[in-house]
Order: sequence, then C-alpha cells, then structure tokens
Amino acid sequence: MTFMASSMTTAVTPEAIARYEPVIGLEVHVQLATRTKIFCGCPTSFGAPPNTNVCPVCLGLPGALPVLSRHAVELAIEASLALNCRVNPRSIFARKNYFYPDLPKGYQISQYDQPLAEHGFVDIEVGGVHKRIGITRVHMEDDAGKSIHEGFKDSERYTYVDLNRSGTPLIEIVSDPDIRSADEAHAYLTAIKQVLQYVEVSSCDMEKGHLRCDANVSVRLKGAEKFGTKAEVKNLNSFRFLKMAVDQEIERQVGILESGGRVLQETRLFNPETGETVSMRSKEHAHDYRYFPEPDLVPLRISETWLSDIQSKMPELPAARRARFIKDYKIQPAVAQALTQDSATSVYFEGTATSSGDPQAAANWIIGDLTYSLKEAGKDIKESPISSGTLGSLVGMVSQGKISGKLAKEIFPKMFTTGKEPDVIMAEEGLTQISDEGALGKIIDEVIATNPKQLEQYRSGKTTVMNFFLGQVMKASRGQADPAAVTRLLKEKL
Ligand code: ADP
Ligand code: ZN
Ligand code: MG
Repeated sequence: MTFMASSMTTAVTPEAIARYEPVIGLEVHVQLATRTKIFCGCPTSFGAPPNTNVCPVCLGLPGALPVLSRHAVELAIEASLALNCRVNPRSIFARKNYFYPDLPKGYQISQYDQPLAEHGFVDIEVGGVHKRIGITRVHMEDDAGKSIHEGFKDSERYTYVDLNRSGTPLIEIVSDPDIRSADEAHAYLTAIKQVLQYVEVSSCDMEKGHLRCDANVSVRLKGAEKFGTKAEVKNLNSFRFLKMAVDQEIERQVGILESGGRVLQETRLFNPETGETVSMRSKEHAHDYRYFPEPDLVPLRISETWLSDIQSKMPELPAARRARFIKDYKIQPAVAQALTQDSATSVYFEGTATSSGDPQAAANWIIGDLTYSLKEAGKDIKESPISSGTLGSLVGMVSQGKISGKLAKEIFPKMFTTGKEPDVIMAEEGLTQISDEGALGKIIDEVIATNPKQLEQYRSGKTTVMNFFLGQVMKASRGQADPAAVTRLLKEKL
C-alpha cells in the first residue's frame, strides 16, 4: 500500500500545496581550507592525478594511525564561532561504520554524541521578513574518496576509485528544522556560505564540491503540531538544485498525503535532468552505523585560552561590517548590504572610500560603473584592473571639483582597460582640465552671448539659471572645464 502511494504521481494543485506547511532542515558539508588532510600530511590540492595525494593513513592501510590536524580544528572552531555556536570544551571522535568502495577504512571518522559545537544560529531575510534559523550542531569529520563512473552499456561500464579526497577535513553543519520554504533554504545556505567565506574557513566553491548540502523535507497540514515524516535529499551541489529539489519534494509529499498515502522515511537523490527526486534507499538509522568512540584518537580538548585566542583573531563578520559601514561612512543600509555581499567587495570599498575621501561617491562608483564593467569583462572584483586606490583618485578628483563627473565617466573605461591612474590617462589623451581663466572666459562669453533669454532671467533674480549656464559651459568644453573655476567666473560675468 505505502509503496503504491509513494510512487504515485498525482497532479498536485497549488490549493493543495497551500494547505500544507513544509518543514526543512539542512545538513551542510563544508571542506576546510587546510593545505593538508585532517589525519595525515597529504595535500588537499584539487585536480592532482588520481591516487597521488595518498599515504597509508588516508588509504586506510592496517596499522596506520591518525594524527589530528591542529589547523583543521582551528578552522572548525572559527566556523563554529562565526555561526554563533557554543564550542564544547571536550568533544569525541567516533567511528561511523559503513562499507563503500571509496571508503577504504570501512568507517568514517566523525563526531557523534559529543560534537565540537552546538546551539548556534544564522539570521536570514526573505521578502523583507527577518528570521533566525537555529544550528543544532557543528562537527568535524573526514571525507571519503571519489568513485568515478564511466560508460553506459552494461558490457562497458567501469567504476574507478580516486582516493585523493579521502581524509579531506570537513565540518558538517546541521540546522534545526526551522526552515519553511525553498526560498528560506536558499537564504540559509547563502548566509552560511557568506559567513564562512568571510572568516576564510573555506572557499565554499560549490563546483569543486567544497560546499554540499542535504535537504531534509517534510510537510504537515497547516496548524498541525506534529512534524510529518521526512525524506532526505542527498548531495545538492548548487543553489538552484537545492531550490528545485525542495519544491519538488514538497509537491511529491503533498501528492502522497492528498491521495491518502503515507510518506516513507527514506534517502532520495535529486536528478537535475528530470527535476525529480528518486528513492535511493530506506533511511539508515544511527544504530545502522554502529557508532563507537574512535580508539586511535584522544578526546579533543579545547581550553578557554585557545578558544579566546582564536576568537580574538577572527575577522569582522558580515553583519558587524554592515553596521559599521552605515555608521562610519553614512551610507544607506541597502548600499551597505550590497557592499558587504562578499569580503573582497567590502575591502575594496573601504580602500576607495579612504583614498577618495568621499565614501558615498565611492559606493556609487563601485555599485555602478565598476560592477557593470567587471560583469561585462567576466571578472571578479579581486581581479579588477582598477585598484581601489586608483578608483579612489578618480572619485576624489570629482569630489574636489578638479574634474567634472562627465570627464570622469570618460576616463573610467580607459582606466578599466589599462589600469592606469586617471591623471596619467588625462595627460596621454590630452584630456586636460581647463582651469585657465582666459580659455574658460572665452567659452563662458560665448555661452552667455547665445543665451540672452536665460541671462535675462538670471539678472531678474532667478539664480537657479546658474545651473543651466554651468551645464552649457561644461558641454561646450566637452566636460573638460574645471567646474569650480567655471562657477566662480560665471558669477563674475553674469
Ligand atoms: P536523523 O537522525 O534522521 O538523521 P536528525 O534529527 O539528525 O535526523 O536531523 C537531521 C536533519 O533533519 C536536521 O537538519 C533536522 O533539523 C532535520 N529534521 C528533523 N526532523 C525533521 C522533520 N520532521 N522534517 C524536516 N526536517 C527534519
Ligand atoms: Zn594521507
Ligand atoms: Mg542525522
């Protein structure tokens, strides 16, 4: 009966879906940015020839003993603190036993009932609504190797095992079942990624598998108190797939319940080609893994001094940086939000704000012209041909009235292609600022002569016409007139 129900594909109406509330918890695996593996000295570098970054420990040879990497523990602690967790003074590594060809030890070294850290949270915002998502725990573990499948015909199918990844340090971040939609799941994963990149615990490069996510999804009738039975969708390796898989899983489960069936507790796989999830196996339980304390490792003890030492060296977190930008640079919250999306952008902004002396204008240039040009060129802000200081020179020249905004807009693309300082480009291109009174005077006289009506208005007390004249003079000079000098001369002549 239940089998029938779970495999049935009834069309599910939006009205039916609206009667249910999804409940979602994410398990996120993050590769720590150490140079070596968690229990041996092998490199973690990506893309090495198969089975070259290996040794007896990560090959799981009999008698080899693991030695815990101090750097991996430090990064895991930083991640835990950045996720507002309480770090346990004592945690225990445990063996999680299962067989798989890419797991030569026959067990993963993980943490079980005494994890590294617990009771954290991250704050998210979806559609203007702020919400706090609880983090149940953060624990450390080693990664397995990789199976590589080749060929499609049964007679020509091969599977290879590459153990380079075996023993790579991971943390697993388990959320409370606080998430209520695919959009919230997306926002939660975005927040986790942002904060971990800020503290440089991981590159969180999803394409390289440095950030992987399993989604636990259940649905219950709105107003119901008890959670429904959950299904776990494994190995979602992009934000888009996470959203698709969660939405698909909600629809599938509502379909089952609406047709009188029962959701099975199971592990499912998302197929990006069909956009559907398919059953992989019935849910394994903790007791299936025969967890027991890892006898080759002593308990992990983290002293108060070690913890506070790490805490004191932690970089500023995105929320704190946002608040500081609003306060110190007097920029709008939405602008601060945009500038703190990633650490590199916020560092760039500070450089430009300082060197220009005009944070507001610096923000506008970064969010506007620079972002646009980088996008066009397919470049990251870290690869920007214009350094933050060089952009600061340009912004400063405008703010101090040395060049017009119009001229700056002409110089900027040339800076972007050459990386040169604005005054160098101006000299090379003959884009001099005209502040010579004689030359300016001639242009101003012409402008005044050709606009007698406006002159009349100005003289009869309508001083706002000043801006009209300023605009005309700038135009006549192709933007090269020094606006400050023009304003001064105009006042005299009008
Ligand atoms: P298990 O023992 O089955 O692995 P856990 O309690 O460890 O379950 O939870 C695993 C993840 O599933 C956590 O992120 C948790 O928030 C989430 N979760 C637990 N119960 C539910 C539920 N009924 N619906 C959706 N997610 C759930
Ligand atoms: Zn090794
Ligand atoms: Mg679990």
